[in-house]
Amino acid sequence: MNLKLDKKDLKPFLQSLIDEADLFAPVQLAEGVLVFKKIDRPDEVDLSSSNTQKPAKEVFSPQSETMFRYEKAGKQHQVTSTEEVERKRVILGVRPCDIQAVSLLDEVFLGKEYTDSYYLNNRNATTMIGMACGHPLSTCFCSSTGGGPFLRKGSDLFFIDLGESFLVELLTEKGMTFQKSNFFKEANTEEISLAKAIEEKALKKTDTSVPVEGIEKRLDLMVESSFWDRVHEKCIGCRVCTYLCPTCHCFDIMDEALTHGGQRVRNWDSCLSSLYSQETSGHNPRPTNRERTRQRIMHKFNYFPKNFGRIACVGCGRCILYCPVQFDIRQAINWTSAKRLKLQRGGRSTNP
Ligand code: SF4
Ligand code: SF4
Repeated sequence: MNLKLDKKDLKPFLQSLIDEADLFAPVQLAEGVLVFKKIDRPDEVDLSSSNTQKPAKEVFSPQSETMFRYEKAGKQHQVTSTEEVERKRVILGVRPCDIQAVSLLDEVFLGKEYTDSYYLNNRNATTMIGMACGHPLSTCFCSSTGGGPFLRKGSDLFFIDLGESFLVELLTEKGMTFQKSNFFKEANTEEISLAKAIEEKALKKTDTSVPVEGIEKRLDLMVESSFWDRVHEKCIGCRVCTYLCPTCHCFDIMDEALTHGGQRVRNWDSCLSSLYSQETSGHNPRPTNRERTRQRIMHKFNYFPKNFGRIACVGCGRCILYCPVQFDIRQAINWTSAKRLKLQRGGRSTNP
């Protein structure tokens, strides 16, 4: 059954979510800075813009997360874990690329060998309300990476903005718990046709030309290539691209000691930092930006597919939009393709 939520009912609907659960949704922190944040009041939520600057991964793997606290009690130490998630959670307004990215994080944090209990608890507690992208940006290339602006996979509920209302699809068991919601009404045929038309238009707008197919094998031949001498040249190593990437998941663990106790914290880290790979001896196997840029590209398009059978890029375009020097990952992928063609011809590539 296709349902709809009239926009005049959006605020009461949001309030009902806040009453029942911790609600996370896009919030405008400053002009152009949209992030997912825990919502206290319905009027904080901004569903009118395109994708958020920071990805939805933060709800599952926070930028800074306390793993446990300890306190001195006489000669003993008392340790308190922070693993438990106390309330149910709902995340609203997640774009299909970010939902695809969460499924990639699942491969890492909920893998066959290891389960990250912090991530697992956040995942289990959360209902995901996906939001179709009616107006993909020129930097979006999700349709090249196996996704699409209307991909429902991974969403529990899926919203399509029709202007005056949202078309609502209930897709999973968690989604079906909303079936009896007083805020949802049955959608009529005109509204369903309008949603289809918006979807067709959006699909035509997304870039399907980025050549990711076969990239793992192409990169196998390029580990020692002069390609990397050129590809990293622009990059100033600011790490913005990795922090804003919905699939990047590296973290560092630190103990923060105070006089009578302390806490263990894990924080997002980035392979583009020189300290990331520096060993205690002082030796650094990735001493320059060249090796670090190679690591970033190889991890997404060669090592991750080798480990999990999928590339670790969902084409969200954030790394293109927010890079201060306009490093364009689509161009880097294209260059691997041009290089391959040259290799096949037995010539030496002049690209990039
Ligand atoms: S955002 Fe751009 S400049 Fe900064 S590390 Fe990434 S590629 Fe380099
Ligand atoms: S590499 Fe860039 S385009 Fe791909 S998922 Fe990460 S931020 Fe998005």
